[in-house]
Amino acid sequence: MGAVENIKEVAELVKKFNDIELNRRILNLENEVLDLSRERRRSEEKIEELERALKLKTQLYFSEPFYWMKGDTTPYCPSCWEAKTIAVHLLFGCDNQDGTSGWNCANCKHNYWPQGHRQQLVAKANMVRDR
Ligand SMILES: [Zn+2]
Repeated sequence: MGAVENIKEVAELVKKFNDIELNRRILNLENEVLDLSRERRRSEEKIEELERALKLKTQLYFSEPFYWMKGDTTPYCPSCWEAKTIAVHLLFGCDNQDGTSGWNCANCKHNYWPQGHRQQLVAKANMVRDR
């Protein structure tokens, strides 16, 4: 049984004594336990978030102008990763005749027109990774 359920049971038992001060103190204690329980949940969520970010940090590498992950030929948005540490795949639009590729981030809506067609960028990223 958790602390929250435990304190609720104690509060029910204490009611039988009809002691106003004791009831008030138990009620305060119950609220404090609930606050601590919520804080603990928030901390656990934060730890999970940081662990995810840390794992990504060791896997992502930079090959201008994008971030890449080994074994993944789709790049990640540099703006989202560097500003908010969120890994968002870029959506490939097209290779243009002028030697550029069009990519879009669904999160920050940024459009990228880097030098080099898609396959050239992927090949360059693989070379950077293997160095
Ligand atoms: Zn983005």
